Amino acid sequence: MNEHYPFVNPPLPYAYDALEPYIDTQTMYLHHDRHLQRYVVELNTILRDQPELQNLSLPELISDPESLPEDVRQGIINYGGGVYNHILYFNGMTNSQTRAGAEALYPAIVRDFGSLEEFFNQYKRKALSVFGSGFAWLVLAPDGTLEIVTTRNQDTPIADGFCVVTGMDVWEHAYYLKRFNDRAAYIEDWFHVVNWEVADELYKQCMNNIENQRETAPAQPSDTLGAPTAEQEPVPAPETYTGPGSGLDELP
Ligand code: MN
Repeated sequence: MNEHYPFVNPPLPYAYDALEPYIDTQTMYLHHDRHLQRYVVELNTILRDQPELQNLSLPELISDPESLPEDVRQGIINYGGGVYNHILYFNGMTNSQTRAGAEALYPAIVRDFGSLEEFFNQYKRKALSVFGSGFAWLVLAPDGTLEIVTTRNQDTPIADGFCVVTGMDVWEHAYYLKRFNDRAAYIEDWFHVVNWEVADELYKQCMNNIENQRETAPAQPSDTLGAPTAEQEPVPAPETYTGPGSGLDELP
């Protein structure tokens, strides 16, 4: 993610058929090799004539759109955002047989959403609420709390100051071949293939970023920044929920 122009389309971190039966092979092929590939090509085409932008990483390019030259701004939002969003989306899924836990993320989900079940309910509502094309994200807000937010088209959560933990593409191209117009069914599919190990790693990186910013920020009264996670009450795991993602309950 820290590379700069010319950008490349990284290969999927698994086989095209790895997410079967939840996400079908042809969708994965078209989504990665055609849709994401086009975003990469279009982004490079824009940057070819913008030497002052060619050393910027993808997050640097898209996190502050107002700083971009006006004539290429929307193109970089669309195609740079498209590359950024899709790399997170593809890297954030895994074969359901190898679903792993989320030792740091899971307690934070229960802390901020009440329960894993409520987390999935809220995620589903938000993902269904996207009108047209967009994404639904689990993000860490600057105050250290988890939120589920949506973005339109290829807008990105980092442009709104959020740090991404995981994200679901709800463009129709992500599910139309298998689920036709049934986005709710695709959302349930996606819950089965979330890579919780990757999400946990991104969550820890987001937490580190916040802590580093606090250390370098001008002195502020510490009680305005919220209590550190370590001082919070341990959250008991729910005992009965067996829906999507309930494998997280098996964490130590
Ligand atoms: Mn997509």
